[in-house]
Amino acid sequence: MDDLLEGLIRLVEESGKTYDIELIKKAYMTAALAHLPQKRMSGEPYITHPIEVTKILLELGMDTDSIVAALLHDVVEDTYLSIQDISKGFGETVAKLVGGVTKLGKIPFISREEQQAENLRKMLLAMSEDVRVIIIKLADRLHNMRTLSAMSDEKCREKSLETMEVYAPLAHRLGMTEIKEELEDLSLQYLDPVAFGEIQSRLASDREQRLDFLDRIKERISERVKTEYPDSIIKGRVKSIYGIYRKVYIQGRSFEEIFDIYAVRIIVNTVNDCYNILGIIHDMFRPIPNRFKDYISTPKANMYQSLHTTVIDKEAVPFEIQIRTREMDYTAEYGIAAHWKYKAGIEGKDKLEEYLVWIRQFIENQQESEDAQDIVMTLKTDIAQEEVFVFTPKGDVISLPAGSTIIDFAYAIHSAVGNRMIGAKMDGRMVSIDTEVVTGKIVEIITTNSPGHGPSRDWLKIARTTEARNKIRAWFKKERREENIVKGRTDLEKELRHSLIDLPQEELDKLILDAAKRQHMASVDDLYAAIGYGGVAITKIMPRMLDDYRKNYRLPAETGAESLEKAMARTRKDKSAKSGVIVEGMEGCLVKFARCCTPLPGDEIIGFITRGYGVSIHKKDCLNVVNASLATEEERARWVDAQWADTIREIFDCTLYLLANERSGVLADVSIELANMRIPIRTFVAKELKNNQISIQITVSVADLGQLTYLISALKKIQGVISIERRAK
Ligand code: MN
Repeated sequence: MDDLLEGLIRLVEESGKTYDIELIKKAYMTAALAHLPQKRMSGEPYITHPIEVTKILLELGMDTDSIVAALLHDVVEDTYLSIQDISKGFGETVAKLVGGVTKLGKIPFISREEQQAENLRKMLLAMSEDVRVIIIKLADRLHNMRTLSAMSDEKCREKSLETMEVYAPLAHRLGMTEIKEELEDLSLQYLDPVAFGEIQSRLASDREQRLDFLDRIKERISERVKTEYPDSIIKGRVKSIYGIYRKVYIQGRSFEEIFDIYAVRIIVNTVNDCYNILGIIHDMFRPIPNRFKDYISTPKANMYQSLHTTVIDKEAVPFEIQIRTREMDYTAEYGIAAHWKYKAGIEGKDKLEEYLVWIRQFIENQQESEDAQDIVMTLKTDIAQEEVFVFTPKGDVISLPAGSTIIDFAYAIHSAVGNRMIGAKMDGRMVSIDTEVVTGKIVEIITTNSPGHGPSRDWLKIARTTEARNKIRAWFKKERREENIVKGRTDLEKELRHSLIDLPQEELDKLILDAAKRQHMASVDDLYAAIGYGGVAITKIMPRMLDDYRKNYRLPAETGAESLEKAMARTRKDKSAKSGVIVEGMEGCLVKFARCCTPLPGDEIIGFITRGYGVSIHKKDCLNVVNASLATEEERARWVDAQWADTIREIFDCTLYLLANERSGVLADVSIELANMRIPIRTFVAKELKNNQISIQITVSVADLGQLTYLISALKKIQGVISIERRAK
């Protein structure tokens, strides 16, 4: 037996759990032989990697199948062995686990954003079949991150970003805090080495002093608590570097403001003990108001349970105390893996099911809206935010992500409550349904039973949680097919007009049918209906439609021969368009906004009578206008005065270019800002630049220049943003 195997078997035996040691040995031999010709980037024999991954899983207390699969996790990808070989040698379950992990590693590279989204979706799918696949994958990634420095700088950043954006949130969602924190800290080291170093040295500098302080506090608590609760455990804890980074560099707090860099954790036997000890603590130290959180009666979404309180001692130094039971402590550290590690004794089975329910719901919901990037956003927003706790009139607590509204609350109770809602009260006062809910308030939803009542489409824009949005979409999908079709058709036609697609009906029908088929839909009506209820975003299908149009339908040359008189006469005739613009002497004429400068209400504008499509409106300082003064007499005569009408109901698209220092979270901050201002985003494209900066191109719909100016100033305040420019597409 070689040293590596011997070391591994020793760990297996010391784990205190029963394993099929013969099978583990066989898996090792198989993997070692298959990987024999390979070396890692660091020069070590390849087999060291699966062994380290296996050790992580042993530490998590995973079962024999997982351990065996971990040893074999790279053989199908990298060696001559096939899934069938694994199945024959180690059984169906191990083969499935290895197959799952292999598949996750094989997702083709498209673009980073898309890959992340696609990655995540595949992971969730694999997870819903056997969650051990993801746990193995997380261990695999953890070891790869620990040994990342052997890779090129570019690879390091790429892997770190993916880890930060996909793997760490997944670990968090599964409650695997230790793994999550290590993944985050390892990634941060590559993504923001300067800040990482700063925090590290900052922690090191007042470490002695802080630990002394913490020891004294622990001592005092022990004296008092241990007499009554002799087997309680009292330990100190340091916040992870990334945890501090988030507060200091992202939320903009000062180092001194973070009360929980060092915390005391008290672990006891029963839930009752937890509350009793809380009483003792509040008797010993002065609690800071509004800093008490009861995650026992209201667990976090990832099932974390604990009491948190921040107190001040005589020296006026605030610090956090966390109180929980042993089981809660296992869950807090190991999350879903606690099911395997501490199987005996606790209600592990139920917990596991609870985790999986979330994943299944997530997948079902996401199949509705085919938008993969939505998933990444959802995962991040649903978990990254602080939670609020709101009461029903009966006293039940509903936990929602911060920023949730009455609508989210109603749908969190039940979709029937949301669908029949006509109003709401918060602490007895009538409030509008877009009001944000606040922790501790009692919210009462007023419903109606009258038929024909339902949610409004605007609610989709107001709701913050995916759950509410999906339930609203589901309602429209089911209840309002006819209405959806009409709405979808109108929206699409409008967009087609906007994009200047002008075709005979037959060809137009064909163009739309082809778009429907690309979405795997049988008919044009299905597509309209999907657009109508929000299942398909027009912005997603337009690029392909435009392509299709340009390649297959567009006339060989744009009409150029029409005379000015004819154009004016035709333009004058068409009074159907209302654009919010008055063109001198051509009331109600057909108007479009020039793409070169995309004017907004408030801009000074001028019109140009086009040869094909009404009057196009430019900003007065648009380069094309300036250049036009050099053009021919005939050209110059086409320019007409134009002004904004007083009442403007249209929404205008406008494209912004944002340059920012690449910092994890800047994308989220920008989109959160837009969401806060309720500004619809048409497109959002981020690109990494060579100099550690990113450029973000956002097309938003705004009402006027005032709103745009306000938006720009809000975006400028986001940390890391260097410049914002409004440009034409
Ligand atoms: Mn691997």
